[in-house]
Amino acid sequence: MPQYQQRRRPTYGRANYPRANRSASRAPKKEYINPAKFIQPAKPIDETPYVPTHMFADFDLHPGIHRNLEAMGYTAPSPIQDQTIPSGLAGKDVVGIANTGTGKTAAFAIPLLNRLIADPGSTALIMAPTRELAQQIEEQCRLIAKGSGLRGAILIGGVSMGPQQQDLRNKPRIIIGTPGRIKDHSERRTLNLAQCNIIVLDEVDRMLDMGFVNDIRHILSLTNPEKQSYYFSATLDARVRSIIETFSADPVHVAVKTADTSENVDQNVVVYKSRHEKLDILHALLAKDHVVKTLVFDDTHHSVEQLSKELAARGFQADAIHGGKSQSQRQRALKRFKDNHISVLVATDVAARGIDVSDITHVINYSLPQSYSDYAHRIGRAGRAGRQGHALTFIEG
Ligand code: AMP
Repeated sequence: MPQYQQRRRPTYGRANYPRANRSASRAPKKEYINPAKFIQPAKPIDETPYVPTHMFADFDLHPGIHRNLEAMGYTAPSPIQDQTIPSGLAGKDVVGIANTGTGKTAAFAIPLLNRLIADPGSTALIMAPTRELAQQIEEQCRLIAKGSGLRGAILIGGVSMGPQQQDLRNKPRIIIGTPGRIKDHSERRTLNLAQCNIIVLDEVDRMLDMGFVNDIRHILSLTNPEKQSYYFSATLDARVRSIIETFSADPVHVAVKTADTSENVDQNVVVYKSRHEKLDILHALLAKDHVVKTLVFDDTHHSVEQLSKELAARGFQADAIHGGKSQSQRQRALKRFKDNHISVLVATDVAARGIDVSDITHVINYSLPQSYSDYAHRIGRAGRAGRQGHALTFIEG
């Protein structure tokens, strides 16, 4: 029985290969992007420190949460936390415009977990675009709520339903998952959405990019009408606004000035003439001293797998992450990358979404992104935690 006071048994440990998605294994259609947009020097990092209006000690939180935040080394809230937590604790709906890396997870997790502890009749549902992000949210919730006895369930695809159904039978108070699997459980009646009265939609724009709009609307319509909602998104476009307007009457808006994370990233192109030369150029780049930790993007499951094998054969510590791998394989590759056991991770766009690795020095677009928005998401992975990163995009010349 997973409880936030103990390390829960992982529900994603079983080797369960998702069937290869045919469209994902073919090269995606791409929109034309002017190559000049891939060249941009990094802007100097704004060193002006944010002065929070609160400290964590000022918030009216359960003593256990205060203790856990202290143990986690959280003393001063980040801007999004500073501005979201008071509204969250007051029970208001919140729209947070913030990227990954701003501390947005704790911004909703702290007030949400505090309410779950204070109000035993409440249940939270957190939706995220990817399995990786769902797991990262779960890890943070577990740390913040340690010792509370709150039970959780993590509902992600690519693993069998059985253990998740078992977790759901144990009446979890915090349910975290991806929209597809949450909908699956709801349709099988293993999850009663009507009990969920605290809802979080994390990375709403990405979930919509991934085609989850109908699932999200359907899921939200089945949750408790008297709910408190949190929406987090890097952008507030018409699609995101439309969802918020349907489900929330008067949300508080919080936008943190993160600028575009790609502003921290020094961007340039690499021109190649033939496929063989392309690999040699990548080899030479990865062998440079200052290229320490690199995320390399390629198009398909197959090309990502092959490139990582070719790099490994050339002596690089490389691994691959893509949707054709089982969840446990993806987790393992990501952990090895985080822990510096490998220095090169080759990925598809979808598999790389939401990964929280703060010290990536380089992003290499071995193949062109599908859109400029995908490009910005890719290279933002190298500009994390206020660090300057580098992005190199391969262009055929
Ligand atoms: P997120 O944007 O939620 O993915 O958070 C980015 C990283 O910042 C995570 O590794 C968090 O553990 C860390 N973090 C978030 N808030 C704080 C804080 N107030 N103090 C120190 N670290 C934090």
